[in-house]
Amino acid sequence: MRKIDKNHELAVELWNRYPDRVLLNEPLKKHTTYKVGGPATALCVPHAREELQDMLSFCAENDLPVFILGSGSNVLVHDRGLEQVVVKLERCCAELYHRGTELYAGAGILVSQLVSYCEEQELAGLDFMSGIPGTVGGALRMNAGAFVGEIGDRVLAIDAMNYQGEMFQIRGENAGFGYRRADNLQDKIMLGTLLHMDQGKRNTLQQSREGYLTQRAAKQPLDYGSCGSVFKRPPGNYAGSLIEKAGCKGMQIGGAMVSPKHANFIINYRNATAQDIYQLITRVQQTVFTKFGTWLELEVKLVGFTDEEEKKVQQPA
Ligand SMILES: Cc1cc2nc3c(=O)[nH]c(=O)nc-3n(C[C@H](O)[C@H](O)[C@H](O)COP(=O)(O)OP(=O)(O)OC[C@H]3O[C@@H](n4cnc5c(N)ncnc54)[C@H](O)[C@@H]3O)c2cc1C
Repeated sequence: MRKIDKNHELAVELWNRYPDRVLLNEPLKKHTTYKVGGPATALCVPHAREELQDMLSFCAENDLPVFILGSGSNVLVHDRGLEQVVVKLERCCAELYHRGTELYAGAGILVSQLVSYCEEQELAGLDFMSGIPGTVGGALRMNAGAFVGEIGDRVLAIDAMNYQGEMFQIRGENAGFGYRRADNLQDKIMLGTLLHMDQGKRNTLQQSREGYLTQRAAKQPLDYGSCGSVFKRPPGNYAGSLIEKAGCKGMQIGGAMVSPKHANFIINYRNATAQDIYQLITRVQQTVFTKFGTWLELEVKLVGFTDEEEKKVQQPA
């Protein structure tokens, strides 16, 4: 039997076990902020960590590849979709509580929920993350940050699982946090994290959150589908500034456009495909490289792309 047919048969078996937790051939465009991406063989939303473990061991035993998706706000999923089981943790990793200044947040919690909770509970230190549209799991994996900090600065420990369903803990200092990366978390599934916070005042935190949201609204094209910044900041420079100086603002391929408002945002301007966005990414990289000799490194994660397509964005041709 062909591998693809076998995977579909196994996904049906998973669906038979968990009919109300598994969607077959689910379009991923419904689960990404770019609003692009073809279907996943199956999309699973386990309701408890035990269910997650059971689903993962089923996939591991049957050689069925798994992809963990947060809010889909930092991924570009191929139009072809994914011959994989995509798992979302919003139900099984939804804890949010604190004792004193130590705060526990499940990986499926939205960053916006986390920021609101901190504000209500007068816990300071993560207000700069206001407006990041991801989950805590995605934020850990990306070491998401903005303005004055990164989530990694606050992490004491991470509860994690491997793809066989075994649980373990990683101390914050061993996560390998760096600029938009967490080197030692790549092959792990994050379930939740213990964060150290400071005491704050609700009014101050509210003002701070509103200030950050106002700055974002002023600078970012929030009316369109996007993944936020497409490229990482090159050493000693800004990707947006290089893209703008290279004359790429407003550049379009199909329904994708380099935002005229913020050059490091490539937006889904009008019914873009993932291929439109991908092509535009490579054109921007080439244009900036030709003009300034700087090869812009992707911050967005390509998902379901071929090795050749991946290679093309990693280095100049
Ligand atoms: C308008 C806009 C503004 C943005 N602003 C910022 C910003 O200021 N700063 C910033 O850093 N980012 C920003 N982003 C990018 C994005 O929101 C962050 O990178 C976010 O942390 C991604 O979280 P997510 O849950 O959406 O992850 P996804 O996009 O779903 O996934 C990203 C990666 O993390 C992995 N992943 C997700 N959850 C887990 C888990 N539990 N365990 C293991 N791996 C996991 C995925 O497999 C994937 O490799 C912005 C995006 C948008 C659309």
